[in-house]
Amino acid sequence: MKPAPFSYHAPKTIEEAVATLARVAPDDGRVLAGGQSLVPTMAFRLARPRHLVDINGVAALARLAVEDGQLCIGACVRHAAFERPVAQGPLGELLKQVVQHIAHRPIRARGTFCGSIAHADPASEWCLVAAGLGAEMVARSALGTRVIAAKDFFAGIMTTALREDELLTELRLPLLAPDVRFGFYEFNRRAGDFAIAMALVTYRLKNSAIVEPCVAVGGAEATPRRIAQAERLLDGSMPSADIFAAAADAAAKAADPLDDQQNSADYRRALVRTVVRRALARAAI
Ligand SMILES: Cc1cc2nc3c(=O)[nH]c(=O)nc-3n(C[C@H](O)[C@H](O)[C@H](O)COP(=O)(O)OP(=O)(O)OC[C@H]3O[C@@H](n4cnc5c(N)ncnc54)[C@H](O)[C@@H]3O)c2cc1C
Repeated sequence: MKPAPFSYHAPKTIEEAVATLARVAPDDGRVLAGGQSLVPTMAFRLARPRHLVDINGVAALARLAVEDGQLCIGACVRHAAFERPVAQGPLGELLKQVVQHIAHRPIRARGTFCGSIAHADPASEWCLVAAGLGAEMVARSALGTRVIAAKDFFAGIMTTALREDELLTELRLPLLAPDVRFGFYEFNRRAGDFAIAMALVTYRLKNSAIVEPCVAVGGAEATPRRIAQAERLLDGSMPSADIFAAAADAAAKAADPLDDQQNSADYRRALVRTVVRRALARAAI
């Protein structure tokens, strides 16, 4: 099948892009980034946007830089950029490990980090990273710019706080201190598939005890999020298989899993327990 007819717009600057979006968004205008989610849905006519605002020609959106303790990821930075460390310390290494779980190489060469965030698939690895590490999203429209915290950004399955006339110009991730330990674990049935459940954990050690724990879960619920019940158990505890199992149990109990024909809520809850425990074990290595 071919996409339904649409008008194509190719702005060269951010100002031009948001001005075009202001004009066409009310008439079902959409941003086109890597096209790896939008174009297949158009080909199946599940989406029929009347206008596409192609941001790939906006050079300013390809920026990937460390600034004021944050990694700034522009809207046109592809997944593949993270296949090598893009920041010193644990953050660059974390992103390098996580990106290997996103789709396949051709999709990683085209799809963008910010496109994943705007698309907000519950099983997106980058959405989990953004929620776990407390990213900031920079949204720009003809009316101005606003910065949205990750905890306020993901509103539901493929639903975000972005308005239809807003362009996500950049996402900012805080750099991680050199002694931050991290672990990521994802479960899917075939390599390259979307996650059925995944966990990202970080923590530091102070006098051998866990401090500043972060336990974030994605894929299992409608939106990725940190699980405070698991973090409370870990905080101040010595790392051990028992405390990791207890935190994983707490995460599973706190989860509100999705339920569909392929994966029941009970199955996903059991997976949450497993992925959290394994992510914690990886962080301890
Ligand atoms: C076979 C296959 C397997 C995949 N597997 C995975 C996987 O395992 N994990 C994973 O995370 N993803 C996976 N993906 C999706 C892929 O990562 C996409 O690249 C990503 O979801 C969207 O990024 P994009 O740049 O391609 O966005 P597009 O497809 O261009 O856009 C997606 C949506 O976001 C909006 N949008 C994009 N950028 C912006 C912006 N800057 N501001 C505002 N709105 C914007 C668009 O209007 C559209 O609604 C897979 C895709 C395919 C085809």
